[in-house]
Amino acid sequence: MAVSAWSQPRVAIVTGGGSGIGEAVSQRLAADGAAVAVFDLDGDSAAVTASAIEAAGGAAIAVVCDVADRTAIEAGVAETVERLGRPTILINNAGITPFGRFLDISRETFDQVIAVNLRGTFDCCQVVIPHMVEEGWGRIVNISSSSAQTGNFGHTHYSASKAAVIGLSRSLAKEFGRKGITVNAVPPSFIETPSLHRAAEEGQLGSGIQEHIPTTPVRRVGQPDDIAAACAFLCRDDAGYITGQVLGVNGGRVIV
Ligand code: NAP
Repeated sequence: MAVSAWSQPRVAIVTGGGSGIGEAVSQRLAADGAAVAVFDLDGDSAAVTASAIEAAGGAAIAVVCDVADRTAIEAGVAETVERLGRPTILINNAGITPFGRFLDISRETFDQVIAVNLRGTFDCCQVVIPHMVEEGWGRIVNISSSSAQTGNFGHTHYSASKAAVIGLSRSLAKEFGRKGITVNAVPPSFIETPSLHRAAEEGQLGSGIQEHIPTTPVRRVGQPDDIAAACAFLCRDDAGYITGQVLGVNGGRVIV
């Protein structure tokens, strides 16, 4: 007999849900029974994800939201509460991944990477957690990066922002465990999304994506559904004893 993910209806927010990993996570959580608010900078892509969920029989809304803008987050969460109910699942996935040699990275670019990848995660947690506390239950998954664990050439700003996301997650886990809220980090590596294809087109992956398959222990490029499966697992009722952990989903490319 199948065990359902949750004993009661759940509302999830997925940031950057219009593309790549966020799109797959949105669809997976909806397939598992959550109503999903798809947050994205790009309202059209968020609407496409939400429509696909509804076409498959799920519940979703599209919310235009720049996670670098605290006011926009507060408005998006208020809209979610009004249209779907209190959010008790939060996947902080929105991220930007510019490359640049360290000595060429401007303070503006550094600030932008921190504003989206780190402060966006901080702000979304700070706005959503009070709803989780009110419900006495919550699940947060913060999407980090294997670059946080290993470093990556041309990615000092990005790696620093994603390493900070791990520290944030572990500290939140210690502070909010007593409230029934778990917080975990998932650092992906080498997942086939528009962002990975952009990196390949910019020449950041050597001769391309295929070149890295022989050095990946499972001998394939990861798919957004691989990350979605990990997020869905960490958000289930029966994952309640797992918190403050870093679950690498990377085909064995990084083993720490
Ligand atoms: P993606 O295909 O580029 O998707 C990212 C989504 O986030 C896009 O829809 C993007 O919108 C949105 N977004 C960007 N900035 C935003 C903002 N300020 N507010 C709200 N939404 C915003 O990238 P992805 O590969 O799926 O990456 C998702 C996450 O996984 C990122 O945090 C990334 O760092 C992490 N990650 C990915 C890999 C990988 O191999 N793919 C590896 C490690 C970590 P626009 O399209 O309008 O910009």
